Amino acid sequence: MPKAQGLQANASFVPTEERHGYVMKKYIIKALILLGFSMTFLYACKPSEDNKDKVTHISSDETGNGMGGETDTDLDKEEDKAGTDTDAEESVSCLEDNYDPGFSIIIEAEEAQFTGNVKVENKKHGYTGSGYLTGIQEDSDIVTFTIKVPGTGAYDLNFRSVGNTGYKENNIYIDGEYIGIAKVDGDEFTDSFLEKIYLETGEHEITMKKSWGWIFLDHLEIIASGTVDRSIYEVSSELVDPKASESAKRLMKFLVDSFGNKVISGQYSNGGLNGKEFKAIYDGTGKYPAMLGLDFIEYTPSRVAFGSKGNDVEHAIEFDKEGGIVTFAWHWNAPEPYLPNRQDQPWWSGFYTRATNIDLMKIMNGEDEEGYNLLIRDIDAIAKELKILEAADVPILWRPLHEASGGWFWWGASGPEPYIELYKLLFDRLSNHHDIHNLIWVWNGQGRDWYPGDEYVDIVGTDLYPGERVYSSQAASFNELLDWLDKSRKIIALTENGCIFDPDLAFRDNAIWSYFGTWSGEFVILNNTYTLSEKYTETDMLIKAYTSDKVLTLDELPNLKSYGN
Ligand code: CA
Repeated sequence: MPKAQGLQANASFVPTEERHGYVMKKYIIKALILLGFSMTFLYACKPSEDNKDKVTHISSDETGNGMGGETDTDLDKEEDKAGTDTDAEESVSCLEDNYDPGFSIIIEAEEAQFTGNVKVENKKHGYTGSGYLTGIQEDSDIVTFTIKVPGTGAYDLNFRSVGNTGYKENNIYIDGEYIGIAKVDGDEFTDSFLEKIYLETGEHEITMKKSWGWIFLDHLEIIASGTVDRSIYEVSSELVDPKASESAKRLMKFLVDSFGNKVISGQYSNGGLNGKEFKAIYDGTGKYPAMLGLDFIEYTPSRVAFGSKGNDVEHAIEFDKEGGIVTFAWHWNAPEPYLPNRQDQPWWSGFYTRATNIDLMKIMNGEDEEGYNLLIRDIDAIAKELKILEAADVPILWRPLHEASGGWFWWGASGPEPYIELYKLLFDRLSNHHDIHNLIWVWNGQGRDWYPGDEYVDIVGTDLYPGERVYSSQAASFNELLDWLDKSRKIIALTENGCIFDPDLAFRDNAIWSYFGTWSGEFVILNNTYTLSEKYTETDMLIKAYTSDKVLTLDELPNLKSYGN
């Protein structure tokens, strides 16, 4: 059930041919602009005594995956020796590539290349340089910065801008590859960072294309973000539920040990181990995903009332017996009284805001007591299924109330406050009232303001659907999630995805997602058959990911029930 339709619609994918045509036409003009910048860069590129000093201060604790130009073999070697002195040497070698930790540069948007409706203005106060760009409103309205960096490594990209009315998102590409979203809020020019983006020495095209459009773009600032920080992977394995079951604790310990060293492969399939997605992946790659993604959707009372019957609990027990990891989402169909059940908004789409008139604000502030009781009824129905799983000793990566900030699901339609109250209610009802302890709590609210607090969250996840055949690591999203935490470090996971990221890029970018969870149906298989679809992920990339020694598949998992002994 591709829930993230909003995200998919926002992300535009441009065919390679089209991009190349665009690049050719713009090349000459850019070359002229570059000439000016190059003088600055040549100076910055010079390996300075300062840099050498900084190199000697790097300890093995501060470094890990080297950033610079390593081959796959280097990465493999490094992965095996994570946390050893070898890592420090790797980072030193990347800094020798003229990477200057003090590097920064500002390029005014009004001096970049732009097409279509984009034009220079200077009416709104607070810009730098001689103005800003406006008019990004059609797909053909594109802004391109041509930049040159002095050394291979990680850089923060700051798109200083302001929306013409409030919050806006726009898509950013580097050399044609989608790398993430520039977000801006407020009514004054503000910094908008994509953090720790990997750039190789030399020239790059950084492009902004319309997602929402309607911003004033002031400048692009590029700042070296320094050495790789391996400490982000040092996470406590203590679960937020103090009474967590033995098998939940062991699974968490495994996840914590793997985090930063391996990516766990995951796949949603309502057919379980024998579902079409799993069979197609096995036929194509010779491997099964290590994690099965399931959903309590068909156990929701308002669907059961219409004749739905869930099978996912059986699939979970079966997959656990095969040694796999199970994660559950819950597309929570709103209770019956809130389902208009019209032809255009049928009962079975009642988890979407558009197909229900439920008002979570009124329920959580006490105005709608009946609604509150119905939500409790629904939670209790799911608790019954969770208890079956607990009795079968199946630990669950439990991801309720997902993608809230987007507002397309009713639990996110009233803003963060009632959402957080509902999240905490769910936590309390399951853990304390029902005494259920096989859960590892995966928060997927997708916004800083939606974070319920470190004491309610074991894993922080985000769902990304960047388009078709986008294999970049999505490091900007990974680094953004790190910023949302209170004080603790948490495991960071790509809890849903369309296309699969290239594992080599994730390690290169130091954005090593704990696991990915490719959504079912069209993201993997063709027309609901057992055949792989190449629409989102080409088979070669699927094979690369599933056979990579950086990615864990079902056959490579240890015995999780005795893990840590
Ligand atoms: Ca400017």
